[in-house]
Amino acid sequence: MNEHETKADETLDPADWNELRALGHRMIDDMIDFLARLRERPVWRSVPEEVKQKLREPLPEEPQGLDRAYLDFIENVLPYPTGNLHPRFWGWVKGSGTVEGMLAEMLAAGMNCNVSGFDDAATLVERQAIDWLKQLLDYPVEASGLFVSGASMANLIGLAVARNTKTSRDMNARERSDLLGKMVVYGSQEMHASIDKAMELLGLGRSSLRRIAVNERFEIDVSALRSAIVEDRRRGLSPIAVVGNAGTVNTGAIDDLDALASLCEDEMLWLHVDGAFGVWAKLSTTDRERVNGLSRADSLAFDLHKWLFVPYEAGCCLVQKPDRHREAFAFTAEYLPPVRRGPSAGGVPFAEFGPQLSRGFRALKVWMTLKAFGRGRLARMIDQNLGQARYLCERIDADPRLEMMAPLSLNVVCFRFVDAALSAGELDRLNTALLFELQEDGVAVLSQTRLRGRVSLRAAITNHRSRREDFDHLLSQIVKRGPVIAARRNQEIRFE
Ligand SMILES: *Cc1c(COP(=O)(O)O)cnc(C)c1O
Repeated sequence: MNEHETKADETLDPADWNELRALGHRMIDDMIDFLARLRERPVWRSVPEEVKQKLREPLPEEPQGLDRAYLDFIENVLPYPTGNLHPRFWGWVKGSGTVEGMLAEMLAAGMNCNVSGFDDAATLVERQAIDWLKQLLDYPVEASGLFVSGASMANLIGLAVARNTKTSRDMNARERSDLLGKMVVYGSQEMHASIDKAMELLGLGRSSLRRIAVNERFEIDVSALRSAIVEDRRRGLSPIAVVGNAGTVNTGAIDDLDALASLCEDEMLWLHVDGAFGVWAKLSTTDRERVNGLSRADSLAFDLHKWLFVPYEAGCCLVQKPDRHREAFAFTAEYLPPVRRGPSAGGVPFAEFGPQLSRGFRALKVWMTLKAFGRGRLARMIDQNLGQARYLCERIDADPRLEMMAPLSLNVVCFRFVDAALSAGELDRLNTALLFELQEDGVAVLSQTRLRGRVSLRAAITNHRSRREDFDHLLSQIVKRGPVIAARRNQEIRFE
């Protein structure tokens, strides 16, 4: 007998399932304790040098076991997050997640489905979740949709469909490259950088993206847009699409989507709306009318992980005309012949609507979030965040030591500390120093931006754990620390 016949086959499944079960239960308990006690922690702290060292250990050649790996996680990973789950985190536009979402992720990972459209329940869950999202957003029911990693990918998909509707598969390489070289896409100065990336990836190039001026509310100037289109046509170029913003990353501005939709109809252009977080204004009682126009977009990109509280990653792209969407990505492969029986019945339709073939079961956490909380509770959270933004804005307006830097739009509050004795440059440096101090002392995490050349603090409120008192705490710390930093103004203020 040779060696192969005597040795039992090995598997990665545990030798003792009960031992593993106990560890699994402990992991859930530890994570639930962590989430239940977020408020007691500093919002953020830097990873200490000794921990950084520990996270540079050599590749494990031999098994260390899950116990040991988990211990390392508890000691070196879990204590040092970015902080986006904390009630006083309002930096950039990040998601705060939920326990329900975490558990759904675990279930999806357990099933380990590759959601491509076969005859399986995961496919049906994805279809249903997409249908529910269309209903929540009042987007046409016949639209096609796809879950992707986030709005960056959804923007890429929307613009890929826009580009491909203006080209033909029958074109030869030369005709195609001539046409691509003439294509122009428009959006406002406030457009997200993922649109630039999409332009590059699609072979259109960043220089074919026109950034149109904005009005005092940071919304696209529609008449300037119209002139730019006329001018490009006059020069023999080929305008193909307009990107509308529903909630810009800088100030939460919402372009006049209805005006953009009408202009695109007149000019035969594709309207893509980037509504990464702003589409959820649709659930609010106060701001829903402002995003009504999104129903007229040819394609719509948005996130579930920013303002619908689903854990990372979850974004979605919807396209009004499914045929157009499919034509942009459909393929035929001999190893995936269309069949009517067996697990692969139904083929791989999701692969025909985007660049990925293998796809995770992100739909489950979206589906479970919608089921667990319903439209009602999610809508209340959106209203709560909008109310908190108005509250913060009122308190800033009422305090001479603070000033708003942009008109309030949605859930993004841009403001700063002011002191009449300081020059413009000194105020910029002071506010930058203040921002870092609040972050490094674990008080609150805001981010910064430049608006009309001046440094602004920025709170993007997508956090379901924040309470009124958290905003009170933020402002009281700012007005306390601001003058102390100002008093140091003759020294060099460190802001790197
Ligand atoms: C965050 C954001 C994006 C990119 O979304 P990701 O989920 O990070 O890929 C695009 N547009 C806007 C307006 C955003 O806020």
